[in-house]
Amino acid sequence: MGDSSSLETDYLVVGAGAMGMAFVDALIDESDAHVVMVDRRHRPGGHWLDSYPFVQLHQPSKSYGVNSTPLGQDRIEPGGREKGFLERASGAEICGYFDEVMEHRLLTAIMTPAMAIVWLTGLMLAYWEGAFSDGWLHAKLALVFLLSGYQGALSRWTREFAADRNTRSAKFYRIANEVPTVFLIAIVLLVVLKPF
Ligand SMILES: Cc1cc2nc3c(=O)[nH]c(=O)nc-3n(C[C@H](O)[C@H](O)[C@H](O)COP(=O)(O)OP(=O)(O)OC[C@H]3O[C@@H](n4cnc5c(N)ncnc54)[C@H](O)[C@@H]3O)c2cc1C
Repeated sequence: MGDSSSLETDYLVVGAGAMGMAFVDALIDESDAHVVMVDRRHRPGGHWLDSYPFVQLHQPSKSYGVNSTPLGQDRIEPGGREKGFLERASGAEICGYFDEVMEHRLLTAIMTPAMAIVWLTGLMLAYWEGAFSDGWLHAKLALVFLLSGYQGALSRWTREFAADRNTRSAKFYRIANEVPTVFLIAIVLLVVLKPF
């Protein structure tokens, strides 16, 4: 049997081009749905990743991209053929923009606040339960601490992918994908069984 794993999600979005990115951007604004995005390319941006360096949008940057994040600075071209017209992003600028959206809006804006909320509510719960002297809680906190470090590693690996510096195999990431599940099982067992 080959490498395989299963994921559960509310929405599976195939394609991280302009359409997929705009759809997910609006979806996470309007709902608390869980979304998985896949693409056969290694970065978001769709066909712009393969564009010739001289191609640009047909329309001004300000009316392209995702709802939450403006593309460009609304600049008026100061000279040249397009003097007086609103700027039009190049393929490279569009790809950089979609990287930014993926990393800051879809990853940082969700994962980091979610981790902060987990720490805050977990510590409040432990305080209310008077569990700070219990051994099981110390073990659980150690695991949550390691899991937070794992999230930091995920952010670093994401940046390496964006900079085309990934050297790890697909198998490595498939195994890494299961790490949170192992932590989850251990944490739930500690909390339910309170073994020490
Ligand atoms: C020179 C030029 C200028 C343009 N200017 C404008 C403009 O000004 N305004 C405008 O609105 N539009 C413009 N366009 C049109 C542009 O193509 C669209 O705006 C938009 O980028 C299309 O996005 P998309 O997500 O539909 O498709 P794509 O960019 O093609 O993205 C689709 C993604 O899905 C992935 N995918 C597909 N099938 C699978 C699969 N089975 N498994 C995994 N991944 C898959 C692909 O790898 C790709 O990354 C322009 C196009 C060109 C060429």
